[in-house]
Amino acid sequence: EHRTREMILKTAREEDVEFIRLQFTDMLGNLRNMAVTKSQLKKALDNDCIFDASTLDGFSGQEETELCLHPDPDSFVILPWRPQQGKVARMICDIYQTDQKAYSLCSRGILKRVMNEAHVMGYDFIAGPECEFFLFHTDDDGRPTRLTHDRAGYFDLGPLDLGENARRDMVLTLEDMGFQVESSYHEAAPGQHEIDFHHFSGLEAADSLMTFKFAVRTIAKRHGLHATFMPKPTAGENGSGMHINCILRDANGNNVFYDEKNDLGLSQTAYYFIGGILKHIRGMSLITNPLVNSYKRLVSGFEAPVFIGWALKSKSQILRIPSSRGEKTKIELRSPDSSANPYLVLASILAAGLDGIKNEVHPPKNMEENLNNLSKKELENREISLLPGNLDEAIQAFEEDTFLSQVLGADFAGRLIEMKRAEWEDYIQQVTDWEIDRYMYHI
Ligand code: GLU
Ligand code: MG
Ligand code: MG
Repeated sequence: EHRTREMILKTAREEDVEFIRLQFTDMLGNLRNMAVTKSQLKKALDNDCIFDASTLDGFSGQEETELCLHPDPDSFVILPWRPQQGKVARMICDIYQTDQKAYSLCSRGILKRVMNEAHVMGYDFIAGPECEFFLFHTDDDGRPTRLTHDRAGYFDLGPLDLGENARRDMVLTLEDMGFQVESSYHEAAPGQHEIDFHHFSGLEAADSLMTFKFAVRTIAKRHGLHATFMPKPTAGENGSGMHINCILRDANGNNVFYDEKNDLGLSQTAYYFIGGILKHIRGMSLITNPLVNSYKRLVSGFEAPVFIGWALKSKSQILRIPSSRGEKTKIELRSPDSSANPYLVLASILAAGLDGIKNEVHPPKNMEENLNNLSKKELENREISLLPGNLDEAIQAFEEDTFLSQVLGADFAGRLIEMKRAEWEDYIQQVTDWEIDRYMYHI
């Protein structure tokens, strides 16, 4: 059930809330906020908080620099790590223009639009994210170093896993904030961790990912560690993914991906959903893997996907169908990384899946063998495509897939391309340590 304005005002009074942070997410997925005192809470709930966006990433240079925040009362939560007298609460906001029209660069608005489209088709989209991250030591000035706090590996436990205390604190904090944490463990690389939480309806899942990253960073800092969601911080080690488990339910709450009569237990709707994602994934990569660094993760040998296909077991393809069936039948997309804007990731997955359903896009057969052993020629013969190899290719693929620009809206898509092009241009002009090591002395 939804929370009303009156419920929020009452809770704020009873809980002695002094500050309210109005949070929103910018185009690139960064969390932003404006704090107001309790005297302004009514005004905020009346959608009357105006801010100047002229220096915010992506929003600047727009004609419209004054924007308006519309807080979502359902997202009201007290920040457990702030003082407990004179508490701090936050609400997640949609961004509107001052004339109360939806703002075209609000990524939360884009996800809401696609979720609505799904509702019209009779579906609710449920997403379960698996977010991986690294913990690095900080130096005396509190800046991140490249030293990890441990040498542990997958599923190791204390005393090898020095992040154990930090992770425990993170899990408890998240539970305080209403998360149901399903599991948390040390991942494969030194200093790498994963915390998985339960499945949410799409919008809540994206909101939760933003909250998750905020909480993880905050708690890490308390332990003298720096948490990073950078996709590939260390060459030669696994990178960090943000796998998304997808479920589609009908109006009665039944999982529409399941069909007991099918030999794999998957419904025709599930096959079309898979077909839609495979069709759009190359262009979607700009959204799911938005950084120069994202493409250093998407190479073979590190449990990250490279091939565009689906499998029950293989980890080298973008889609995997975990073994649970019945109400838990789900499709796991493995390519997204944790640097992506979660609202756009979920919006694009859902839109692509729905496109597959609407246009009855049949996927190719699942491939269970190890594709890493195939030569380039064999891959070509079997028409197996690869994800973009770098940000430049991803930008091109995004531009070629006009469906995705429609999903984001022309305004958003145009600006995203502009920003990403600038990032790539800047990157290719750099002279890296690798080049110095490799060429300086011998050439
Ligand atoms: N860290 C791997 C990745 O880059 C995923 C490992 C796993 O399967 O959990 O996606
Ligand atoms: Mg993992
Ligand atoms: Mg996974």
